[in-house]
Amino acid sequence: KAISENVVYKSHNAFNRNAGIPTGTVQSVEKLYEAQKTLSRELNAKRNARSAIGDKIRSSRDPSAKQHALEEAKALKSEVTELEEQLSDVDDRLLSLALSIPNDTHPSSPIGSESAAVTLSMHGPHPLPASPTRDHVSIAKSLSLIDFEAGSLVTGSSWYYLLNEAALLELALTNYAMSIALKHGFTPVTTPDVVRLDIAQRCGFNPRDSHADPPVSQMYNLASLGYDGPELVLTGTAEIPLGGMFANKLLNHRDLPIKVVGLGKAFRSEAGARGADTRGLYRVHQFTKLELFALTDEAGSEEMMEEMKRMQIEIFEGLGLSFRVLDMPTEELGASAFRKYDMEAWMPGRGSWGEISSTSNCTDYQARRLHIRYRPSPSTAGSTETVLSPPTPPLPPKSLPFVHTLNGTAAAIPRLIVALLENGARFDDSGNAIGLDLPSSLRPFWVGGGSNLPG
Ligand code: AMP
Repeated sequence: KAISENVVYKSHNAFNRNAGIPTGTVQSVEKLYEAQKTLSRELNAKRNARSAIGDKIRSSRDPSAKQHALEEAKALKSEVTELEEQLSDVDDRLLSLALSIPNDTHPSSPIGSESAAVTLSMHGPHPLPASPTRDHVSIAKSLSLIDFEAGSLVTGSSWYYLLNEAALLELALTNYAMSIALKHGFTPVTTPDVVRLDIAQRCGFNPRDSHADPPVSQMYNLASLGYDGPELVLTGTAEIPLGGMFANKLLNHRDLPIKVVGLGKAFRSEAGARGADTRGLYRVHQFTKLELFALTDEAGSEEMMEEMKRMQIEIFEGLGLSFRVLDMPTEELGASAFRKYDMEAWMPGRGSWGEISSTSNCTDYQARRLHIRYRPSPSTAGSTETVLSPPTPPLPPKSLPFVHTLNGTAAAIPRLIVALLENGARFDDSGNAIGLDLPSSLRPFWVGGGSNLPG
């Protein structure tokens, strides 16, 4: 209904977002929605006629009138069956097309591709000059911090082992970012790293990248490995299990916003990725990620996005990074984001800014698909209520509003390690890395005591 009331906006929006859906999809949804309404009306009329004839048959004393009514009832029965089949076919097509339509877009989001991103603010020290000496791969080699050869042998290219201070750095960065999230009232969660494909899709992740030709999967699918249970994928981000944690829930308004911070592994097939990005730790297949996730009412999501942005700035400023905050353009919003802020740190060895975090306000896009609603009345007794009770889960009543969901990276470990190595390494006169200065903010989180912190 919402789509067919906004056909012009929705189709223009899908075009601006380069949503990868065939031209005319929004119009097809509108047509199918009309067809659905017409078929439902016809079906109801036929069902009513059938039950009226049933009454007539029961009350009729005239055998020939009764026979006539019986024939009429038989004809109506087959018409009802045919209409039911048509309606079910239209329902299926309508749902699958409607689900492919992306979220609306914030009016301030720039229109276009990545190059249209708008810099909102710059932070941290003045960027160091670009220099190949500062390449994190050679620094890691000199300081014995990462074993790419073993990763490649044991799993494949773009898999790695973190060693020595790099292994401790992963732990320290995770706990450092976690401590800031807790300070801001987020509840800590560790998440499953394997999720049902259906939940991933409801969060807006489609394993088939429709922009690629032929389409490729950006998610590792366990079915493809010979697993034959329900379709499961390795999660690309804790956003998926965190969103799924609230599926089918009816929340109370007074419990919003709900803020959780999830620690999980992210798995990315990175199908089609090539070039400099796939060197070293920048674009790998598995990484530890600490993810912020929030549920708000409709009025609260924009402010929550700003709150997440402030926290991320606090995290990255605390690490002494030079970074910038970008308002991402329409073609970078994916299916679910209404608005997206990316943060990019300066990586002098790569000689470029590299994305270290991404924050999305998904408004009600995920909540509609995951059935997460809230009861607006502040006087409702009881706390969060799970409506789901398998095997026949009643869904929250349709009249209640959907929550808004937001997600943001608190720490994606490999990119932070790239930035810290490329900005913090010390070199001898021949340009070999001989040591590493790490930010003192990590001291309380360094295993073995802060006095062992490099630098
Ligand atoms: P995304 O969920 O794709 O927005 O990614 C969130 C953050 O994870 C990014 O800002 C990067 O810091 C990091 N990231 C994404 N993909 C990779 C990858 N393949 N390897 C390492 N880090 C990644």
